[in-house]
This record gives sequence, C-alpha cells and structure tokens, in this order.
Amino acid sequence: MPTQNIFTTSLFNPNEFTITYELVPGQGSGGRRVEKLLEFAALAGQDGRIKALSITDNAGGHPALAPIAIGSEIRKTGIEPLLHFSLKDKNRSQIESHLFLYHRKNFNNLLVMGGDFPRISYYGQARPVFDLDSVQTLQLMRDMEEGTYRSGVKSDHPRFDPITFNRGCVVSPFKVTESEQVWQYAKFLQKTRAGAHFVVTQLGYDICKFEEFIRFLRESGISIPVLGNVFVPSLAVAKYMGKGQVPGVVFPEQLIHRMEQEQNSGNREARLVRAAKLICVLKGLGYSGVHLGGNGLSFDNVKFILDTFEELGSNWEPHRPDVHFPVADAWYLYPPARTGACGTKKTGLTPGRNNAAQRPHLITHNLLFSPPNLTSRLFGKLCMFCSRTRLRTSVLRAFERWIKGLLFHCRMCGDCTLEESTYICPQSGCPKNLLNGPCGGSRNQTCEVFPDRLCFWVRVYNRLDPRSDIEKLGSLPFMHPKNWALDQTSSWINFYNGTDHHRIKFDNNSKQ
Ligand code: SF4
Repeated sequence: MPTQNIFTTSLFNPNEFTITYELVPGQGSGGRRVEKLLEFAALAGQDGRIKALSITDNAGGHPALAPIAIGSEIRKTGIEPLLHFSLKDKNRSQIESHLFLYHRKNFNNLLVMGGDFPRISYYGQARPVFDLDSVQTLQLMRDMEEGTYRSGVKSDHPRFDPITFNRGCVVSPFKVTESEQVWQYAKFLQKTRAGAHFVVTQLGYDICKFEEFIRFLRESGISIPVLGNVFVPSLAVAKYMGKGQVPGVVFPEQLIHRMEQEQNSGNREARLVRAAKLICVLKGLGYSGVHLGGNGLSFDNVKFILDTFEELGSNWEPHRPDVHFPVADAWYLYPPARTGACGTKKTGLTPGRNNAAQRPHLITHNLLFSPPNLTSRLFGKLCMFCSRTRLRTSVLRAFERWIKGLLFHCRMCGDCTLEESTYICPQSGCPKNLLNGPCGGSRNQTCEVFPDRLCFWVRVYNRLDPRSDIEKLGSLPFMHPKNWALDQTSSWINFYNGTDHHRIKFDNNSKQ
C-alpha cells in the first residue's frame, strides 16, 4: 500500500473525487516563472481542493528545472507534490539513484513515463537514453519495495531496506487507429502487472474514448484509480496541437473552430466552463478524479473551474454533448452506439495483416535456436566451438554482423530480441529502443521521432499472429532490461552460453 499523504488518502478513497494540477517548470533555477508556480501552489494550498501538484520532468523533451527543486517548496503549502519521472534522460543507474533520492526526501508520489524524445539543447540535441522503459521501471520500483531487487543477471539479495512509492503510469485512450490503440491498452495491462497503483490519461476531448477506457478497465477487472486529463488550452496552443506539434496528441478540428467562434464573440470564460463541464462528465463516467492543466491559467481561472464544477452538481449527462469533440475516423474498441454512449466491445481485431513477412525468419529461428532438434544442436555446437578462441569468435561475430545487418539492420547489441518483436529489430527500428510495446508519441501510425516512418510497434502489430488480442499482448512476459555488457558481442554465442535474456526470461517472469 502506498505511503499515506493527502493525495493518496484522497486517491484511494472511492468516495472522494481527487483533483491534481500540472505545473511546468522552464529553464533556469529561479525568476518570474518559478515565482509564479510557487504563488500558484500557495493559493492552491489555501484553497484546499487540489490534492497534488504534479511537476513535469523536462516536458516536451526540453531541459528544465528538475521537479524535485520546487517539490520541497510546494510541500510547505500543504499540497503533495506528484513528481513526473521521465525515462528519456536517465540510464538505469540514474533511475535507481533518483529513486533513492526521492525516497530519502519523502517524495513518494511518482508518475512514471517514457517521455518525449529530447529536443534541441546545449549545442544541439541531447543524446536520448531510454535505458529502461516504463514497464521495466515500474517493475524495478516494485522489486525495491518487495525486497526482490536484483543486480546483474544473478539473483541477489537487496542491499538496502525496502522502499515504497505511490506509482502512477500514463495511457492514451485517444489513439485514432486500431494498431496504436490496441498497443496502448495492452501496454497499460503490462504496467498494471508491473505494479502501477494509479493511471492518468493522455489529454483528449472525445467523451466516447474517455468512457471506453473506463469500460475497458472494468471489463479487465482492474480497479486502480484513474485520473482523466482535463487540459485547458488557449486558442494558440490548440492550433499548435492541431498541427501535430505535441507528440501523441491528435487535436480535434471541431474544438479549434469552436474556440475561434468563442474568441470572436469575446467569450473569454467559455474554455473554463467547458473544463468544468468535462470534469463533471468524467466524474459521472466513474473517473476517480481529474488531472487538470493548461497554459496560461492563473489560480483564479482554476478556482473558477472548480467553483463551476461544484455548481453543476451530479447531473452530468446533459453536459456530455458540450464537451464531446471526437477526431474524424477514430477507431474505437467500443464503437459509439446511436445514443452517443459506448456500444459493445469490438470483436475481430485485425493484427497480422503482414504476418507472412516474418515466417521465413521464424522457420530459420526455430531451426537454429529451438532445441532440441538436430540443426539447433549442431548450430549450438558450432557457436560453442567458435567461442573458445578469440579468432573463431571474431569470425563468427563478423558473419553474424554481416548477415543480420543485411536482414535486420542489426546493431549487434548482443542480446537478440528479434523473436519477441516479429523479426524486426527494436535497436535499429525504434528510436526509443522500446522492448515492451510503444510509447504514446505516435500519431496516425507514424513515429514521433521520424514522422515519415511507420511506428515500429505498428509494424510489429501488422506482423503479429492474427489471433492476437489486447489480453494476449498485455499478458506477454516482460522483456527485462538489456544487459549492455553484451554490446558488440555475438548474440548467437550469448544465446548458447546462457548469458543473454533467454536465461533469465522465465525466472524473471515467474513472479508476474
Ligand atoms: S542482436 Fe540486437 S541489434 Fe541485432 S538484430 Fe538482435 S536485437 Fe537487433
């Protein structure tokens, strides 16, 4: 059970509706921007309705003041900080070190996310890290809590006292294509298996999608608290998002037109009233609370939203059409019925349309790596023979580099996961090198980093076994973090001498 504080006490009380608000620090250690965040926190503390102030971690991939810097000052206002824990800039040593630091300083509420790809910084773009993904990090945090932390590839006793966090994760119910949405839900199932205590949705304005996620949660038997994202954009930001400038966000055209009309008529409060109505609807749909945010909002704006929400009362259904802005041609797991509410769950997903592409590789893989059979025994003996001298190892490695470079753009990471990703390589194919499903940054099936390419995980979806579904994908064994000591070595030798992930895969997953 997570540590008790005003945020967790509210979040895990089914009779309370929890409100959080997102603060976005910028560059620099002080100045007017930081002062404004602290002034906001002080006013929110006096008001008392916001239970946690979340603080972003290099939001949008831009370097900014670390969240812990203002977290301690925010706590003095009586509000719990909810620190974003973004993985794009931290390798696993840094992740562990930060977890120790946060626990030491009593920052026990963390929102774990992969994070946007790094943008331009000092002398250019920072080198992206993405050493652990969100599933692996949640599992690491759970291992630290349960005393099952291990180092290296051997079981090891933890060398520190168990540490506990209130672990949050994120999900997007707002993807507009089947492949992206199915992966989002499947990865969410993995995150809950890895130990997420609560979830926050991506921003969106399609009520059917909000409702769909709640239905999916209930029908999957998951009862963790879920906070709906209520983002209040200005017209300029709405237009910016409408151009696809924010990773993973597909902003509805209809809402931009509505906001233009409101601006032309001088209705400055319209976006705040709409936010209040959205909160009211999300509460009616069964959300445990909302994660509020928006650019250029003063505390008076937020107070107005919360006051209006309270005045609206519990009769939420009449407000539903006022806050429903779907994206054209969006895919739904529960397609909306004529009434506008979620219909019945869709059957007949269409993964594996290009399944035939992986078959030759699958057959070769089974011949060479699925003991016991004659060819795999022979190939194993050849690998072990080569591993005994430096010269033979070099020859085998050069051959592996050549053939797998040609077929898979192999980077010789030494711990081959082609089998688990339908025989396309995540080290060369996914800019974030993700092993347990996609990030949230794709848009209309294209990659966040290379918008002219299909998202790696969309390609995987198209090559999957056509009988795959969300539950099967969500219950796949976790891919453990890569052991970078194997980099530039022969994955064939590592497979047969038992130093790659195959050795610990089953052991690792036995507790899931
Ligand atoms: S060895 Fe690593 S880099 Fe090479 S194909 Fe396999 S996963 Fe990709």
